[in-house]
Amino acid sequence: MKFVIATHNAHKVEEFRRILEPLGIEAVTADFEDVEETGTTFAENAQIKAEAACHATGLPSVADDSGLSVDALGGEPGVYSARWAGEGATDAQRIEKLLRKLDGVPADERTARFVSAIHCAFPDGTAVAVQGECEGTIAFAPAGAGGFGYDPVFLVGDKTYAEMTGAEKDAVSHRGKALRAFVEALKNR
Ligand code: IMP
Repeated sequence: MKFVIATHNAHKVEEFRRILEPLGIEAVTADFEDVEETGTTFAENAQIKAEAACHATGLPSVADDSGLSVDALGGEPGVYSARWAGEGATDAQRIEKLLRKLDGVPADERTARFVSAIHCAFPDGTAVAVQGECEGTIAFAPAGAGGFGYDPVFLVGDKTYAEMTGAEKDAVSHRGKALRAFVEALKNR
């Protein structure tokens, strides 16, 4: 079965393909309008994006809504991870804001988790929804050149996501776990 990847984020597309293709899932991009993320949870926003893409393309469509939840910041930036430092801010500006807010917070209180909600909307109105999480800590300074978003400051063990190869990130990441759970859920449909 062919699935539309319901995102315009090139980094997410790359990760979707990297994770899904070896599992035998054909994932394609398509032309559709961006939709406003009006939900208050990752799951709601993933559903909104998947349904919009499915409606526009007539194909099963898979969306990811994801973000970083930092314990010392009461769960922020959370569902607002993309817009946290204002519309049009860069990844570097979002990372700078995060490190500034955590200034003085010691290593053992810098716990955080990445969450990925995956929602697949089918043209017949049915759906598959799953979630994946990855526990980590926020580094004191960015490290590594790979990945995107908050990757350079999210530590799993002693490596940031940005210091990992793609395969290393996928093996532990929120998106890797969520997409593998999605493929398992498809088998049981
Ligand atoms: P979304 O497109 O609304 O799901 O926004 C997710 C935002 O969370 C992205 O723009 C990134 O800032 C952040 N994010 C999600 N997944 C990752 C990841 O794997 N690495 C780094 N940042 C991520």
